[in-house]
Amino acid sequence: MKKNLLDMDYQELNYFITEEMGFQKFRTSQIADWIYQKHIFTFDEMTNLSIDQRASLKEKAEIFLPEIFDIQKSRIDDTTKFLFKLNDGNLVESVILYYPNRIAACISSQVGCALKCSFCNTGKLGFTRDMSSGEIVGQVLAMEKYLNSNINNIVYMGMGEPLLNYKNVIKSIYNLNDKKMKNLGARHITISTSGIADKIEELGNLNIEIRLSVSLHASTNIQRDKIMPINSKYPVEQVLQACKTYQDRSNKRVTFEYIAIKGFNDSADDAENLANVLSGIKSMVNIIPVNPNPSGYERPSKRFLDAFAEILRSRGIDTVVRAEKGTDIDAACGQLKGKYSK
Ligand code: SF4
Repeated sequence: MKKNLLDMDYQELNYFITEEMGFQKFRTSQIADWIYQKHIFTFDEMTNLSIDQRASLKEKAEIFLPEIFDIQKSRIDDTTKFLFKLNDGNLVESVILYYPNRIAACISSQVGCALKCSFCNTGKLGFTRDMSSGEIVGQVLAMEKYLNSNINNIVYMGMGEPLLNYKNVIKSIYNLNDKKMKNLGARHITISTSGIADKIEELGNLNIEIRLSVSLHASTNIQRDKIMPINSKYPVEQVLQACKTYQDRSNKRVTFEYIAIKGFNDSADDAENLANVLSGIKSMVNIIPVNPNPSGYERPSKRFLDAFAEILRSRGIDTVVRAEKGTDIDAACGQLKGKYSK
């Protein structure tokens, strides 16, 4: 079976190129440069390799990039959603978001998701399998090639729970960060988790400065149980304790995501309670009005969201009510794949 070069870290790539292919060492950096910087994914186009080298690479290796299966672009803000087909036919989604000074990508880490959060369409589709590190990085490279532009920020907030595919996700992060590969600054990479406590603690030991975002969405177990079944395994206090341990180890601030649902978790008491449970953690809160489409939940009014945010700020917590993007294309994950899963 041919080896997919995207599944290799630099050391593995170097071993393959020098030991298995018998090429000189400098060929490794040339090939990495073609793939990660020049977005060239066929050996025939790697013109600084000899014709014989290209032919032997074609026999033993491939660069498998997820295939763009569908694209939706927002007419409001250019947010672009990609549906990718993996080499076994499975479909995953990624989203490109445009900001004044940067392009951000929200990428998937699993095909589907087992966690069944009630507000999320991906959870309704169920879990199929983990993605390989090459498939994860491949989304970024395929979108960069399509856009003919570099992506400046990457968030693991697409389909799947990244910390349940820990090994492949961490390998993909190192490959995106590696100066000899994608060379994206670690502070431009964010892992977003539903709160897999033991893995959050492990993240604190990594020697890489990525950012952590935790989907809390509720400050009591009674509330969180109703929208996130994973809360029965990792309840609020355990998730927050893990965040403290992560912070002790890494000295980094944690972002908490809070999906605001009208009449459920958007009251002044909810805001006060959230501030109480976050005390002692250097944190920032992102308030996100719920996407009504898969869930049937309603969004709180702007007045409620602003009042909620103001309470948190008055308690010393940096808080942002996140601007919605791509509302006309249902930019929340799982929507586009759902179209093909009926
Ligand atoms: S919100 Fe995230 S963790 Fe929850 S079901 Fe959706 S993809 Fe899974």
